[in-house]
Amino acid sequence: MIIAIDGPAASGKSTLARALAARLGLTFLDTGAMYRAVTLAALDRGLAPSDGAACTALARALPLGFDPQGQVLIEGEVGEPAIRGAEVTAHVSEVAAHSGVRRALVGTQRAVAAAAVAAGGGVVAEGRDTTSVVFPAAELKVFLLASPAVRAMRRAEEEGRPELAEAYEADLARRDAHDSQRADSPLLEVEDAVRVDTDALSAEAVLDHVAGLAGAKRSG
Ligand code: C5P
Repeated sequence: MIIAIDGPAASGKSTLARALAARLGLTFLDTGAMYRAVTLAALDRGLAPSDGAACTALARALPLGFDPQGQVLIEGEVGEPAIRGAEVTAHVSEVAAHSGVRRALVGTQRAVAAAAVAAGGGVVAEGRDTTSVVFPAAELKVFLLASPAVRAMRRAEEEGRPELAEAYEADLARRDAHDSQRADSPLLEVEDAVRVDTDALSAEAVLDHVAGLAGAKRSG
């Protein structure tokens, strides 16, 4: 079974996808972590995030994988927490906008899913284009939403820095605009996705709701 979850930055996609995968016995596929991994490697090598040819060559050559917890591995090394750093976050949308980078990573994402399905399981994938481009035939598609203020506050509280919520809101808005306006695979809400607005819901309530949708698809 393939479940695809898209939505804007910090809407709770990773929390939901990880917990849902654990509950259903599926593989968690964090596609954003892969774009972050390429961005981290590009910055480490002194490549300009605006250089599409160089970023594409890197995305094609860089060995990426996942450990059993679903954490991205870069040349065999766990990419956390470095892939979440401020510099990577500031540049990842620019790197992710290059079509060549996207083609390389989408190929890997589909291969991960195909292997999981062949082994009798499946994936819960999350990102910006998993419902629209990567897995258009997913059995369940979810578009996760939350207001900018709630997303910024959740992210700031996660990091124990509630005073940064306002700065985070501006950063999330910048990234959302970039991700929604790019030419290749922009963030969009596809028609056959179920919209889940999480503003008034706890993480557990969101999980229960989406697990219920998945259960209905499985038995139907
Ligand atoms: O989900 P996360 O915030 O970690 O994603 C980081 C960035 O990676 C996004 O802002 C977006 O630019 C890019 N991304 C993407 N397509 C995906 C997942 C993430 O372009 N499927």
